[in-house]
Amino acid sequence: MFSSGKSAQPWLTRAKQALWQALSLSLLTWLSACLPYSVDFGRLAPPLWLPAGFCLAQAMLRGWSCWPGLLLGLCLGQAWLLPQHAVLGLGIAAGQTMASLLAGYFLRARSSQVLPLHRLSGVLLFLWCGVLANTLLANLPAYLFMPAALLPAGVSHWQWLFSRWLGEVNGILTLTPALLFLCHAPYRQQRLNPAGWLETALLCLSTLSLALVEFIWADFRHGVAASLWPLFLIALMWVAFRCRLALAYCLHAAVVVLAFVGVLLHNGAAYQDSGLSGIAAAGMLLLVQSLGLLVFGALVAERRHAEDWLRRANQTLEAKVAERTRQLAQSEARLKLMADASPFPLVMSHLDGGALIYANAQAESLFQCPLNATGRRVQDFYIDQEARKQVSRLLHGEGAVRDHEVRLHDAHGRQFWALISCSLVHSDQSLYVISGINDISERKRLEHSLHEANDALRQHVAEIESMHVGLREQVRRDPLTGLFNRRYLDEILPRLLAHMLALNGTVAVMMVDADHFKRINDNHGHPCGDAVLATLGAFLRDRFRSGDVVCRYGGEEFCILMPGMALDVACEKAEQLCADVRQLLIQALGQRLHITLSIGLSVCPLHGEDPASLIQAADAALYQAKAQGRDRVCLAGSSQPALF
Ligand code: GH3
Ligand code: MG
Ligand code: MG
Repeated sequence: MFSSGKSAQPWLTRAKQALWQALSLSLLTWLSACLPYSVDFGRLAPPLWLPAGFCLAQAMLRGWSCWPGLLLGLCLGQAWLLPQHAVLGLGIAAGQTMASLLAGYFLRARSSQVLPLHRLSGVLLFLWCGVLANTLLANLPAYLFMPAALLPAGVSHWQWLFSRWLGEVNGILTLTPALLFLCHAPYRQQRLNPAGWLETALLCLSTLSLALVEFIWADFRHGVAASLWPLFLIALMWVAFRCRLALAYCLHAAVVVLAFVGVLLHNGAAYQDSGLSGIAAAGMLLLVQSLGLLVFGALVAERRHAEDWLRRANQTLEAKVAERTRQLAQSEARLKLMADASPFPLVMSHLDGGALIYANAQAESLFQCPLNATGRRVQDFYIDQEARKQVSRLLHGEGAVRDHEVRLHDAHGRQFWALISCSLVHSDQSLYVISGINDISERKRLEHSLHEANDALRQHVAEIESMHVGLREQVRRDPLTGLFNRRYLDEILPRLLAHMLALNGTVAVMMVDADHFKRINDNHGHPCGDAVLATLGAFLRDRFRSGDVVCRYGGEEFCILMPGMALDVACEKAEQLCADVRQLLIQALGQRLHITLSIGLSVCPLHGEDPASLIQAADAALYQAKAQGRDRVCLAGSSQPALF
């Protein structure tokens, strides 16, 4: 239906079809002109809407390809019909035919996809555009050009035109309710249910009963039956629409047979005084119903086709929707699976307001409560709301937050440190935040423990270092006097000499020995001797510069290194020391004692540039001072005391 006529039909098939259409149309035109019904209006007013209906049905069934056959049939029919007024009759018929064709194609153009009888407007348009086109193209030209002599007696042009128009409107008004009802009634199912069959059977029975009454039993003569015919058509349409077109044709045939039987029995609405007229009237009924069913059958086929198409389209759409829904469900399930399988807690929330949208199983486990569809918000789990605002500000500004440490708590109040990373996503006209949350409480605890361990370790290291320093001091110090010991002297002297020699400086070495110290031990005891040595050590430490190195060389012997001290200054210093010690009153364990010192002096580089030479030189000078009577200073390399 409404398929384009430009199909790839062979020209021979199309020619045969056109010939069939031409013959059918011309025969129909001739038959319609022969009907006694037309006698009332003279031979100019045959019910040409019968051929016009045929044209409409053909146009709807076959498309534009039918126009050559219809045109030929029109010409042939008019040639038979109106030999004496061929042009006028041809014009009227052509106008009506063209009106039918235009009505069909106008509908087709308006509803290439959605078919006309699926909507109320389509039904009304279908009926009224035929009337309108017929009025404009056929009746109006006929009114303008038809000679008055051809009009029936006592009928003016206006009356003639109005009566024709009224006849068409009458037909429309009769058919409209039926079509509207059929349009809104559900189309028959593929398999009619028992109730539908009962309904159809009752209608068929009623129709046949009415036909029996009208055409055989009743006495409706002289054209009254014409007004009842559309009623049969409505019933036939109903059967065609709700049940089967074939059944409608059967019913139609039965009605027509009854009409013919009535004529043969000289009774019923179709019977006329002339037997031929009665047969013609029954033939008229046959034509009207056939054409009506033809057109309506085309419409029903169209609707069925459209409904099938819509059903298929709907099924396809539903299948696609179902497939898409399944895919979406699968995708959602996969995403949920992925999110739940994630080793990290994941949460999706609104940026504004913080309402939670989704949380995976790890997040619910972390916060110890259900989070999905519970109306909870992100801020419900922040300890410090200022921290939450800061995260929100970062998201607004940079669109993401990476490895941000915040303090959170779970539903039971357990507080923990969390490392969060958030990303801002835009979807459905809203801004969402996807947050990955990592509970770093254990890490924090370990960090804290590590800090504590570090502090303890640092303290231990400090203690060890101080112990080490103490030990080093102990190693280099003499415990009795607190002065440097000989080990330190052996360690420092080479470095000191190298340093001072590099600077072209001098180093004075003073060897000091207490005179007759053995006697103190012998006379006052060893402890008293120790006390004297301690006092002497303290005295020596105080007498020299901080840069000088005062060592207890061994026993009651001391060695003093004086870097940068010239020979004469060193001599003076040694002499002064001798004099001062000589005057020194030492109180040791209740004893008041005096001691004297013998001093040997050597100077680098005068007396040597290595430790051994210098020490040996100073030692020799000391020995010399002892030998010369003690309590004096001797310079190395001299047989006389340093200062005389
Ligand atoms: P000289 O004038 O020749 O040096 O006579 P001296 O007695 O001082 O010399 P000597 O070397 O004979 O004796 C040194 C004495 O110093 C022997 C020892 O008893 C004493 N002495 C050495 N070290 C210590 C010490 O640490 N404490 C005490 N109380 N006495 C010591
Ligand atoms: Mg000695
Ligand atoms: Mg001595």
